[in-house]
Parts: sequence; structure tokens; C-alpha cells
Amino acid sequence: MLRTQTWHPDTCECAIQMHWDDSVDTSEGANNVVAVRSVKNCPLHQGLSGEAHYQAVLEHNRAANAQRNKE
Ligand SMILES: [Zn+2]
Repeated sequence: MLRTQTWHPDTCECAIQMHWDDSVDTSEGANNVVAVRSVKNCPLHQGLSGEAHYQAVLEHNRAANAQRNKE
């Protein structure tokens, strides 16, 4: 089933609407994200939209969390 949720990363002020398929088994790393749409861009991620925006925010979020786990 296709689901929709707006993602607010804890690392910046962006908002991204995500559509994903909850019938996809992600336990082996499969990508269940069907589509993404930019709702709001923070100053850091200005000028990005859709997939590029999602990837940039995801990367930023992972890097920040990795950094946090080291501290
Ligand atoms: Zn951002």
C-alpha cells in the first residue's frame, strides 16, 4: 500500500513529502521510497527539489547523526 508522510529532519528546517510502498521488505536494504516532493527548503538546501533535495537532506542527516554517535 502506498503511504504518504511529510519528513521533518532533525538536522535542518527542510520538509519533504515522501511516498513509499509499505509492502516492500526493506530488511535487506531495498528502497521502498516511490516518490519525494520538496515542501520547504532551509537556507542550507536552497535550490534543491525532489530526489536531489531528499538525497542532500538524507546525507546531511546521516552525517550529523554519525557525528552525534561519536560524541
Ligand atoms: Zn535542509
